[in-house]
Amino acid sequence: MNTPHGQSPLLEGRQVSKNFGGLAALSNVDFAVYPGEVMGLIGPNGSGKTTLFDCLSRVQEVSAGQIFFKGSEITHKKPYQVAHMGLARTFQVIRVYRKLTVWENMLLSPQWGKITPSQLFKPTSEAIKARARELIGFLLLDHVMDLKAGNLSGGQRRLLEIGMALMPDPDLILLDEATSGVNPTLIEEIKDRIRTLNQQQHKTFLLIEHNIHFISDLCSRVFVLNYGEKLAEGTPAELMENEEVIEAYFGA
Ligand code: ADP
Ligand code: MG
Repeated sequence: MNTPHGQSPLLEGRQVSKNFGGLAALSNVDFAVYPGEVMGLIGPNGSGKTTLFDCLSRVQEVSAGQIFFKGSEITHKKPYQVAHMGLARTFQVIRVYRKLTVWENMLLSPQWGKITPSQLFKPTSEAIKARARELIGFLLLDHVMDLKAGNLSGGQRRLLEIGMALMPDPDLILLDEATSGVNPTLIEEIKDRIRTLNQQQHKTFLLIEHNIHFISDLCSRVFVLNYGEKLAEGTPAELMENEEVIEAYFGA
């Protein structure tokens, strides 16, 4: 069990708000993720989970509030700047280059920065190739390494996207619905890989997830968004007993 007391957060949001026109997608959300945790983020559809990831990874400007990573304020930084600081993410709608192979996708991982056409023809360093080879093995993608990403199963594409996020060796990985569209066997593989990365390589995770078993198997703490506001925070067991959380999910 992680006890965050006495540690400083790896990632922290203070009063984070995001409006889209008249819609308050996030309202004054406070949260902290501590080094070494696997933290869950749950909430009904439309509750603001992906928008929070967009603000944290700096894909979206916040409307108000502050974000800190490793003790530095990153509220107005660019996505490539926070990527270089060690923050990586995946997307709810998988972003891989479908016409390129698994191997080529790994080498072109957008987490390294902006991809320009000329980069496609640049020689890749041995260090990058070695890292890609290691991750492809770790993620059990060896046998599909030369297949086009568009021909992978949903689960294999998720693993590839996780691999691409891991290329720059980040400290914190934000995963947006890593189990959606994934068959049960591969869900177990993804769970096992996350656990290994957390326990053996000390990677910290924040997971948006609908699969409650996945959450309760992996996460020490979870926070819940509802209509853009933080509804609750606690262990998975505590939240499953929380009337407000049950009502948010299943209605009155
Ligand atoms: P979740 O990931 O929890 O399902 P989202 O963060 O995707 O929720 O969406 C939260 C709310 O913000 C929804 O009402 C959604 O329609 C709205 N929203 C998300 N992104 C945009 C956008 N780029 N422009 C306008 N509205 C958006
Ligand atoms: Mg979402």
